Parts: sequence; C-alpha cells; structure tokens
Amino acid sequence: MTEITIELTDCPKEKPAADELGFGHYFTDHMFIMDYTEGKGWHDPRIVPYQKICLEPSSMVFHYGQTVFEGLKAYRTPDGEIQLFRPDANFRRLNHSNERMVIPPIDEEFALEALKKLVDIDRDWVPDAPGTSLYIRPFIIATEPFLGVHPSKNYLFMIIMSPSGSYYKEGINPVKILVEEKYVRAVVGGTGEAKTGGNYASSLIGQLNAEKEGYAQTLWLDGIEKRYIEEVGSMNIFFKINGTVITPALTGSILPGITRDSMIKLLKSKNIPVEERRITIDEVIEAAENGTLEEVFGTGTAAVISPVGELKYLDKRIVVNDGKIGEVSQMLYDTLTGIQYGKIEDPFGWTVRI
Ligand SMILES: *Cc1c(COP(=O)(O)O)cnc(C)c1O
Repeated sequence: MTEITIELTDCPKEKPAADELGFGHYFTDHMFIMDYTEGKGWHDPRIVPYQKICLEPSSMVFHYGQTVFEGLKAYRTPDGEIQLFRPDANFRRLNHSNERMVIPPIDEEFALEALKKLVDIDRDWVPDAPGTSLYIRPFIIATEPFLGVHPSKNYLFMIIMSPSGSYYKEGINPVKILVEEKYVRAVVGGTGEAKTGGNYASSLIGQLNAEKEGYAQTLWLDGIEKRYIEEVGSMNIFFKINGTVITPALTGSILPGITRDSMIKLLKSKNIPVEERRITIDEVIEAAENGTLEEVFGTGTAAVISPVGELKYLDKRIVVNDGKIGEVSQMLYDTLTGIQYGKIEDPFGWTVRI
C-alpha cells in the first residue's frame, strides 16, 4: 500500500464545550478517505480536511444499500495520553461485514495505521471531561454510478470522528425496553451478523413504536419462532439469573459485539459463571416471576453498559432489580471503563496508545 498523503486544514474549527457535545453532532477537522476501483484495488489513501464528498445520484449505495460501518472510541487517560480500545477487533469485524456484503476486504493493519495517524492529527479533539470520548466511525459505501443490481465496481472507505459527551451525565439510569412482537430484525442467513445500514433501516419502525409507548428501545426476538432473544437496538443483551450471567449465543443473526466479547472475558476473569446459549423470552419472564431474574443489561461501545429496569412483553410488564443498576452490571461498567480510560491496569492487552 502506498503512503498516506496528508493535507491539513487551514481553518481549524472551534471545539464545542464538553456539556454541549451530545452524540454524533460535531466532527473533527480531518477525515481519512481511500478509493477502490475494480482492477486497481484500494488506492490513494489520504487524510484531508473534513469536507463534503461528491457522489453521483446513481451511486449504488443510495439504491441498494451496499455499505458497512464500524464504531469505536479514543479515550483520554489521566496522564493526558490517548488510547484506543481493541481497534484491531473493529477492523476484523469490518472485513467480516465486507465479506457478507461482497465489498472488497481492506488491509486491517493498514487501516489501523491510518486511524492512528488520523487520531494523532486531531488529538486535541479527544475531550477530557469525565465520561467523554472521541467516537470513531469507519465506513465503506458503494459508489459505482449504475442502477443495475450487482456488486459495485467502486467504493469509498472513510473514517470520520466525532467528540461525544458523557452517556451518563446524570448517573446510570436504567432504561425501559419493549419486546417487539410483530417485526423482526434479522434471520439466520440474512445480514444480522454484518454491521450494515439496512439492519438499522429495518429496525426503525420497532424503535418508533417503542418510543410511542414510552420505552427507550426494542428487544428483538429471533425471526422465525419469535421466542429466542437476540439483541437490543444497537446493543447485545445479558441476563443474570440465579447467579449466572447468560447472553444469547452468536447463532448467525446477532451482531458480534466487541463490548459483549469483553464482558464475557471480564466475567470469566472474575469467576462469575457466564453462559452463551439460546434463551427464550419465556425463560426470562419465568425467572422474573419466580424471583431469580437479578439483572438485565445491554452492552455496546456507546454506553458500555445500559442497565434495563423494565421489560414489557405482550401484556406483561416486569421490573428488574427495582429499576436500579445491579451489582455485577456496576462492577462490569467500572472495570471496563477503567481499562478504556487507562485508570486501571489492562491485563488483557486491549488498549492501544497513540
Ligand atoms: C455495533 C452493534 C452492537 C454493539 O457492538 P460493540 O462492538 O459492542 O459496539 C450490537 N448490536 C448491533 C446491531 C450493532 O450494530
């Protein structure tokens, strides 16, 4: 792969105040971009000022959704350094998504080098207020100007970055979740395992219905029997029942979360029993009714852990742990964020300093 060319901005933007950040509103001064052309491969990697891109209206991504994305963060450590969390896992997953969506693979090591360079150039954009971070969004879109249905001959791979505020400004508040009974998100053999835009497009209707009923998110059941639990919105899900932590196994329709994988490894290292297996919504309701459902929480890069305080399924409403965060959820949150922000030692080798 050729050298990355770098063009720095002449007019750096003003950085928003930490309490105005929110999520996904502001973008840093620079971005990474690289082209793919059939017969030539990936070429012209460059870091340029954050700017608009010019695409033909016939670009295939607009019509048939051939696209993949990733999400990870850079964190400011107490000594002012910057570190990434398991970025290699994100680029590996990007290539798995690429395979499913027949997008040509990227060189994972090269992508990581490019990302490190980009974060280094925009390092002043990594906020340092408690709980804040720099959210990083790598993505690939099909750009061939053509309306026939076939894999695109051209692509763009880009990385943009957005300073993000503290997810839990007012402390960790458990969320209320509605179990979706009509729509499904994915089926085995479909694209549920790939991080691709279409999965989100098809889930919006469930999200909207949940919000209408006063719930924050949707819990998706399997696409065939609508019995087995899959995941929540953009998070994987865990249940603590009678001392054992259970999360749905990766059966082919669930997004393999990096936070999920990290939680399983943390639980094992603390000798807390953890199982990856199929689990039905009936098992969860039954556990709630016989008093053995102790904790429920979602996991994902944005929130790390999102405790679930209430679940609604059909006409049943179940309240979990009195609507408060559980002991294991709190421990996992403290440990993982401690490692991510470089406040506690990282025995797993997950963090990458820049
Ligand atoms: C990204 C994502 C997750 C969480 O993955 P992390 O790697 O933990 O951030 C879970 N579910 C879906 C559908 C996702 O897109």
